[in-house]
Amino acid sequence: MLIGVPRESAAGETRVAATPETVKKLKAQGHVLRVEQGAGLAASVTDEAYAAAGAEIVDRAAAFASDLLLKVRSPDTDELALVKPGTALVGMLNPFDKDGLARLAAAQLTSFALEAAPRTSRAQSMDVLSSQANIAGYKAVMMAAERYQRFFPMLMTAAGTVKAARVVILGVGVAGLQAIATAKRLGAVIEASDVRPSVKEQVESLGGKFIEVSYDTAEEKEAAEGVGGYARPMPQSWLDRQKIEVAKRVAQADVVITTALIPGRAAPVLVSEEMVRSMKPGSVIVDLAAAAGGNCPLTEAGKTVVKHGVTLVGETNLPALVAADASALYARNILDFLKLVITKEGTLDVPMDDDIVAACLMTQAGEVKARK
Ligand code: NAD
Repeated sequence: MLIGVPRESAAGETRVAATPETVKKLKAQGHVLRVEQGAGLAASVTDEAYAAAGAEIVDRAAAFASDLLLKVRSPDTDELALVKPGTALVGMLNPFDKDGLARLAAAQLTSFALEAAPRTSRAQSMDVLSSQANIAGYKAVMMAAERYQRFFPMLMTAAGTVKAARVVILGVGVAGLQAIATAKRLGAVIEASDVRPSVKEQVESLGGKFIEVSYDTAEEKEAAEGVGGYARPMPQSWLDRQKIEVAKRVAQADVVITTALIPGRAAPVLVSEEMVRSMKPGSVIVDLAAAAGGNCPLTEAGKTVVKHGVTLVGETNLPALVAADASALYARNILDFLKLVITKEGTLDVPMDDDIVAACLMTQAGEVKARK
């Protein structure tokens, strides 16, 4: 099979969907790899490294003229113009973007969005949300530390004692857990909140303190269980109580990292303007939900702004700032997924009785597949 790896053209996208490691493995399976010239440069992978792994270095048109395209972001209209009907596509295609999927269907692509893979043990090795959120959680803490004008750890020096930073993490999924672990390694004191009570143990095992909010009604308990590991919108009664508890912690915090997301919906507002006003000057908020509207209404997507003396970081693509490792992990996720859709003979197969393939398939034969 001809496998194309184009250079990503989306603004700020530095990642690449294949690395020399995965190119070598695909080549060993008998495929022909066409990597667009410069595809890996922003992730510190040279054309020479791809060539040494067995790839052909080609121009943009040749990379797109393949049987299977490996992408990070969904192709835009210019890119789709280079794709021939019937091409297979694997990437982070945004399963909730109806217009984007309609464009892929109109271009007659058989497309797979890896974000749609179920959160099961078997799908773990191809779980791009986890591999990338883990990086975002780490980088969020790095960015906070960079902007914060004080130390994270408690220090006892001859010139006096420095207090440890108080870090509040809102939303404890994959990114939140990595943010806790990273801030802990730097010596911060950490408190964290999530709608799902099951994460309390995980927060504590990483040395953080869980912000307790009671679940008083059957409706609250049911919503808190979520679905498939994901959060569901919580009843207002619970959110009101959570707000009171969070507000107390945010007022004392030096750094707040928010990661709260509900798939396919606007991010919940957890840090109000009033809470930002209550924070100390020089405090930092990193809003990982910026692309989904933000967990703080003062966040500006893609920008770092200072409001009421607080720095708000609204970076929307943190994994792209750790491009080399983000690409390495993403490329391995793809390699693992390909085992499900490429036969031993090297042809494309779409086994719909495989729950991962069925969940990831977005378009086929000109149609957008209904989301399960
Ligand atoms: P996510 O990015 O969708 O959301 C981030 C976090 O925000 C979640 O923990 C969510 O509960 C929380 N949240 C939503 N609304 C909130 C609110 N109002 N207040 C506070 N927190 C709020 O989640 P994710 O990181 O993709 O992880 C989702 C779940 O899937 C986690 O339980 C994770 O451990 C699990 N998971 C399982 C597997 C697997 O079994 N293979 C793999 C990856 C993740």
